Amino acid sequence: MGAPSRRAAAAVASASSAGAARHAVLGSHCDCESFYYDVIARGEAGACKHVLAARVARAVGGDSVETVPDEVLARLLIAG
Ligand SMILES: [Zn+2]
Repeated sequence: MGAPSRRAAAAVASASSAGAARHAVLGSHCDCESFYYDVIARGEAGACKHVLAARVARAVGGDSVETVPDEVLARLLIAG
């Protein structure tokens, strides 16, 4: 969560990319290619797996919430 904006974002690990690759999820939007092609361009899906993973983690309490300055949150969203 960003401060002082209180915007919530999630960093979801990429299953297909090696190393510490992560995707940035902000609300129902994700920065991955699947979100762009399957959700936005073709409209064949309502969400990508990263958005679903963030929702499930939140629902079962499997996520960890950290409050960071908005500048740090912005870097997460830009870098993915
Ligand atoms: Zn995604």
